[in-house]
Amino acid sequence: MRDLSRRDLLKATAVGAGAVALPVMMAGGSSAIAADDLGASSSATYPPATLTGRIVRPQSPDYASASLGWDELFVHYPLVIVFAQETRDVVNALTWARQNDVALRVRSGRHSLEGWSNVDNGIVIDVSELKGAHIDTGSRTARVGAGLNQLEAVTALGEYDLAATTGTEGSVGLSGATLGGGFGFLTRYLGMACDNLIGVEIVVASGADGAEVLKVDPWNHPDLLWALRGAGNGNFGIVTSLTYKVAPLKSVAYLQATWEGLDDLHGVFDRWQRSAPFADPRLGSQLEVHKNEILLFGVLAEGSEAEARKLLEPVLSVGNPEVTVQIGGWGDTYAGFQIPTEDEPANWKFFSQFTSEPFPEKAISIIRAFMEDAPSDDSNFFTQAFGTGAQRKEPFGGAAFPHRDALFYSEPGAGWGTRGEPDSGDAVTPIAQTWIAEFSQALRPYVNGAYVNVPNIGMAEWETAYWGRNFDRLRKIKAKYDPHNVFQYEQSIPPATH
Ligand SMILES: Cc1cc2nc3c(=O)[nH]c(=O)nc-3n(C[C@H](O)[C@H](O)[C@H](O)COP(=O)(O)OP(=O)(O)OC[C@H]3O[C@@H](n4cnc5c(N)ncnc54)[C@H](O)[C@@H]3O)c2cc1C
Repeated sequence: MRDLSRRDLLKATAVGAGAVALPVMMAGGSSAIAADDLGASSSATYPPATLTGRIVRPQSPDYASASLGWDELFVHYPLVIVFAQETRDVVNALTWARQNDVALRVRSGRHSLEGWSNVDNGIVIDVSELKGAHIDTGSRTARVGAGLNQLEAVTALGEYDLAATTGTEGSVGLSGATLGGGFGFLTRYLGMACDNLIGVEIVVASGADGAEVLKVDPWNHPDLLWALRGAGNGNFGIVTSLTYKVAPLKSVAYLQATWEGLDDLHGVFDRWQRSAPFADPRLGSQLEVHKNEILLFGVLAEGSEAEARKLLEPVLSVGNPEVTVQIGGWGDTYAGFQIPTEDEPANWKFFSQFTSEPFPEKAISIIRAFMEDAPSDDSNFFTQAFGTGAQRKEPFGGAAFPHRDALFYSEPGAGWGTRGEPDSGDAVTPIAQTWIAEFSQALRPYVNGAYVNVPNIGMAEWETAYWGRNFDRLRKIKAKYDPHNVFQYEQSIPPATH
């Protein structure tokens, strides 16, 4: 095989070649290895690889900041971090890791809630500097580098009055959120983030010790696209670019309501769970219960203030909330409700749950009791309405994300400690951990299923909680694309054995 330039590579992957083996020319520059439909045979070996890209090692002055994740509860000491500048850096890093028998993790926005995008003594292959964005207004598609965070993606699309679903926190990686599902204010309107995903470029393991680039779309490796829509986090390969179908969105009405204290909790929660999931699908909403207040957030796509107030009237008519509504572009609105990372607590613990039946009074009393006893002011019980929205329908080709008939998603979450002060939260850590464990356990009779993007450590049968009946198919797809189980971590998908 001749040495491919970057342009050749893009051309080759863009015309539907399906698989391009890139082991040799970037590693040692010597001989070539033939690629079949899925690259080299599983016993083929590759010439020795060298790391390329921006490389940070323990001796580097920026090692600590290059290693630290968003959740400072988890600290790791990797052997090396590779910040890829282009796809071939990822190919080299994966090949190098395999040839040197070094544990590897994939990282984008660093928000893994169990610290699983980093690893002691291993290599972190970080795609966060792959920031390209190509927005095609004619075909209403956007191809973006895997390093964009959600705020960057929403802002780039917003400049063209376009949108795709993302999660709510701007600093979260678009890759990590989408590959695990991805829900937010636009979920009921446009489906899950992964439902909007129509193609990816991904670097997978190839042969006995190499790597190759695959172009994945509904016609090339459709089984892998299905798997990447909800089970793609660090399981099958390293995604380097994502292509989304995007939708026009000119403006939104953004409503915020605050109830002081928790005395109205029963009324607010019950009205919300019985109305918001069944409202006009243009309405996305979140309810947040804090220690001393209840917050409601609603986004109505292409809606007026009067419409937003009317749709949420069943909830707003409880007690005497303070209500504000802003009308604006989605990009500006989204940027406006972001909290700077430095203002957030250092340590976090969450537990994810889906619910298909309304919570009875008893469950709402449990929420009130636990919130009154929360370990910090930054703790909350968070919900996101699902119900009769667009997420009920799977995209063309299907998706591994299974929780289509959820009424709402919820999670107890605790935040504590001060950023930049490593031990500042230590006294609270055991209290917060226990509170989360007991809170989620108390709600167990009322919930079913969990969200892989907010992983529940120690949960029995996490496989079916995340993916339901799709788990068996995921294991088969894993065996096809990663037979040597190169991509593995605490709750990764094991390859099928038969
Ligand atoms: C404050 C906060 C708010 C959140 N809000 C929401 C929300 O509103 N909606 C929602 O759906 N989720 C939400 N989440 C969960 C979020 O979607 C996950 O934490 C997500 O996996 C983070 O992705 P990341 O790229 O930032 O993290 P990383 O730590 O970089 O990666 C997370 C996982 O994805 C894998 N991964 C990352 N990039 C790639 C890639 N390019 N190829 C293959 N695997 C990759 C990693 O290996 C790891 O397993 C929230 C999380 C936090 C911390």
